[in-house]
Amino acid sequence: MTVMKAKPREPVVYHRLVAMEAMPVELELISALQEIHERIAEGGELGALLDDVCGAIGRILGADRVHLALKGTDSNVFGRIDHEWCSCPEINRTLGGMLPSEQEDDVVLDLVATPPPLAVIDPLNNPKLAAGPRQLFEAMQVKSSLAGRLQFQSRVLGLLCVHQCDRVRHWTRQEATFLSVVLGLLGLAIANNRMIQSMQAQHQEMVSLHFRLEESHQQLEAQVAERTAQLREANETLTAMLDELRQLDQLKSGFLDTVSHELRTPIHFITGFGSLLNDGMYGELPEKAQGAVSKIMVGAERLMVLVDDLLDQSRLERGKLSVKAQAVDYAALLRRMVEDFQPLVSAKGQCLTLDFPEAMPPLYADPERTHQVLRNLLSNAVKFTPERGEIRLTVSREGDMLKTVVADNGIGIPKEAQAQIFERFYQVDHGPTRSYGGTGLGLAIVKALVAAMSGRLSLESAPGQGSRFIVELPCLSSSEGA
Ligand code: ADP
Repeated sequence: MTVMKAKPREPVVYHRLVAMEAMPVELELISALQEIHERIAEGGELGALLDDVCGAIGRILGADRVHLALKGTDSNVFGRIDHEWCSCPEINRTLGGMLPSEQEDDVVLDLVATPPPLAVIDPLNNPKLAAGPRQLFEAMQVKSSLAGRLQFQSRVLGLLCVHQCDRVRHWTRQEATFLSVVLGLLGLAIANNRMIQSMQAQHQEMVSLHFRLEESHQQLEAQVAERTAQLREANETLTAMLDELRQLDQLKSGFLDTVSHELRTPIHFITGFGSLLNDGMYGELPEKAQGAVSKIMVGAERLMVLVDDLLDQSRLERGKLSVKAQAVDYAALLRRMVEDFQPLVSAKGQCLTLDFPEAMPPLYADPERTHQVLRNLLSNAVKFTPERGEIRLTVSREGDMLKTVVADNGIGIPKEAQAQIFERFYQVDHGPTRSYGGTGLGLAIVKALVAAMSGRLSLESAPGQGSRFIVELPCLSSSEGA
């Protein structure tokens, strides 16, 4: 691949000072360079440094004026002459004046485009000099000039011009080399200064960011502390309320316990004397009176079940619901249960069937509590199944468990209510037109009793398709039974 190099631009009015005869470098220039270098190394405020260096250049070269125009960091225009040194008050000041841009002035363009330094000798007698620059040279009384661009890497940073105003001067190669080295040093100094400034600005930015972060961190910590205090306070209030509620709950359980016990005695009187009346112990009763006594008995028995449920619930809440497991003749218990329910079932024209395996091992459970569990499930089945419905009590053996299913083809239970019906006092909302009565305590007690007997309780149901309550209780193996 051939690389095409751009042909360097030939300056219009400048002289390149590269081919002049070799002369020994004057010691004076070298020590001046040394001084300038030390001044640059000393650093400090950039403006003062540039002023100092302009003066040093002017003095060592015996020139009349040295001025410097810097390019703004974000512009292509040189702009104002910001630094100037003049040998005496008679020399016109150019400080604050504007240099033309390289686009509008060929002399400036040459300075920007050509490696430094470039010399102008007697420009006003140079026929090639255009009108614009001529005016400028005239105004500045320039008879000779040595100038060049300041740059860092490939970036032009500014222009520095040395003017001789009292005579036409032919600059020497040593003077040109001296200026070229100073321009290099200045380019480096300006670039360094800008870099330091930008780093300082970044540092400043980071410091303020750090402070802002610190501040928001502190605010956050204060907020967290405040919220934590609020939460702690709320928590303490809640704990106090909870304690109070627990005490109230205990009071309520104690009250339930006392009231239930107190109610049992009069109910026993009612059922006891009712039986005596029914049995004719106080003489033959007229038919109407017999009917009334039977109704009193049914009501009293229902009341007894209710009171027993309340007592159980209060024991459950106090963790005092006890069960005593023993071998139970489950077949006998089931048969008795079906017999007890027969009048109720017949009254609604329902059909109750019982099915269990012939060789059924004894159940290992509390007989009273098992009876209570089945009685509860069966009364629900009767209650929530319409007239002429069907209720089935089916037992099967599953390993060391006896699985009893109480199934009905009644109204069923919606999916979303199935977990809640085992919570105390919960009743499914069957709509305002259908009220079934009850307390919502039965299933909560059933669940607690089955768990206390190491059993499992589950439910399968869908609205309109009946319900299947499944109770699994442990049974004895044949060897254990013996
Ligand atoms: P109670 O029967 O006194 O209302 P339970 O705890 O025994 O209380 O039952 C809770 C609720 O579960 C009942 O109110 C009823 O909505 C529903 N439920 C129980 N068993 C059945 C069933 N076999 N069919 C339909 N719903 C039932």
